[in-house]
Amino acid sequence: MLLKAEKIRKEFDNTSVLKDISLEVNEGEVVAIIGPSGSGKSTLLRCLTQLEKVDSGRIEVCDNVMVDTYSGFGYADNKTLHKIILEVGLVFQNFNLFPHYSVLRNIVDAQVKVLGIDKNTAKEKALSLLEKMNLRDRANAYPCELSGGQQQRIAIARALALNPRILFFDEPTSALDPELTGEILKVIRSLAEEHMTMVIVTHEMAFARDVADRVIFMDEGVIVEQGTPDEVFGNTVNERTKSFLQRFN
Ligand code: ADP
Ligand code: MG
Repeated sequence: MLLKAEKIRKEFDNTSVLKDISLEVNEGEVVAIIGPSGSGKSTLLRCLTQLEKVDSGRIEVCDNVMVDTYSGFGYADNKTLHKIILEVGLVFQNFNLFPHYSVLRNIVDAQVKVLGIDKNTAKEKALSLLEKMNLRDRANAYPCELSGGQQQRIAIARALALNPRILFFDEPTSALDPELTGEILKVIRSLAEEHMTMVIVTHEMAFARDVADRVIFMDEGVIVEQGTPDEVFGNTVNERTKSFLQRFN
């Protein structure tokens, strides 16, 4: 198991945003998280990737305990937390590329800074990932010269360059025009075929149904229902899930 979260809780201003969320992600698994806006999906990803701290709960990533408030252990020391950060990648809705760096430098710098590898090795890796994303010819362009779909593919290449064991996506197509959504879904689909472990928050129901091994429906800070795509989409039992899914029909 690559990720195990137990009963994680998170409050903002005395409002519970995550209420005893537990989930497990196995190696090679693709998990889609769906649910209405404000249900806590981004907060969950942010807690799992150390961008936010949980108030209580236990999280284990690749056999390292990140936090365990139940045993009184709290958060791990900085060295362990850093080690865990290296195991995960996160792709945001808004790409988050450095606008004043070229495409190539965006991918090279991340590797040099985070992994401490030399520039030439980093460059080689960056170019091969650009090739994979079909963007080799845009290596020297700046993000503003690219379409949203191309920028998102660069962001995915940058995340992959750091060799994460788990890749998280937070609504990777939400900022894109509909005609550009497909190219990102195609990239994620090909990563799934390569057995990349991924947790994807998405509003693309057809995609989730097609590519995910497991679907989690979140509402108001709880996991309401989870199961295979056929169980969640084809044979919905829960009324809240049903009414949410009706919006997409
Ligand atoms: P989702 O991604 O499912 O739309 P979020 O995790 O972004 O949901 O938000 C869940 C709830 O937490 C929302 O009510 C949101 O307003 C609140 N929230 C998220 N981040 C913060 C923050 N940094 N400070 C205060 N409230 C927040
Ligand atoms: Mg969100």
